[in-house]
Amino acid sequence: MLEDLKQKVYEANLALPANNLVTLTWGNVSQIDREKRLFVIKPSGVDYDKLTASDMVVVDLEGNVVEGDLNPSSDTPTHAFLYRHWEQIGGIVHTHSKWAVAFAQAGVPVPAAGTTHADTFYGDVPIADRLTKEEVDGEYELNTGKSIARVFDRENIDPLAVPGVLTNDHGPFTWGKDAMDAVHNAIVLDVVSEMDFHTMQLNPSQDVHVPQYLLDRHYFRKHGANAYYGQGKH
Ligand code: 13P
Repeated sequence: MLEDLKQKVYEANLALPANNLVTLTWGNVSQIDREKRLFVIKPSGVDYDKLTASDMVVVDLEGNVVEGDLNPSSDTPTHAFLYRHWEQIGGIVHTHSKWAVAFAQAGVPVPAAGTTHADTFYGDVPIADRLTKEEVDGEYELNTGKSIARVFDRENIDPLAVPGVLTNDHGPFTWGKDAMDAVHNAIVLDVVSEMDFHTMQLNPSQDVHVPQYLLDRHYFRKHGANAYYGQGKH
């Protein structure tokens, strides 16, 4: 079942090592079929160079395996929660990409410091609350998803305008309209994290944030009704 979706999710998973976003097996990608209310996700702990499309696991929105011989990603409850919480997202990526993890471990949001960031993220990429001992000892991966939703709800951030987050002490999750879009956002997040790290070091006393008018200009030339970047409109 969902053979086309398995192929897409497989290709999106392979795009992580191809873009230097994962070490060993530290990452996972999924994409949902909203009509069927099922999503396809990478199996847990399988080497990327040994993965096949048919290894992809089909799960329901509660994270129960519907089809597949292998255990789904250990982060499946996080993906399932985010798909339940945000109807508008279609694909999710988690990695331990190095620059984004550095911010996650420091507990520091990735600031919207320039146009590279503004082209994809309409504002800082937030940091989710550190999980309590009870949250970690309990349904850890589900609670990770809840911690992500909590910061977006509390700060009134649109998850489509800022399609990524840092989970505290852990690493980045990104999402998008489908799996490849979420991979694209994971690539951008790691690149802007690296740029921001150096920017903040070069002038530690400076507020590195881009002015609102430049954030607006760059975000909205790529997104929304008046977007004009690229070859979409002639
Ligand atoms: P899985 O191989 O179970 O998806 O785990 C990867 C990972 O990065 C866990 O955080």
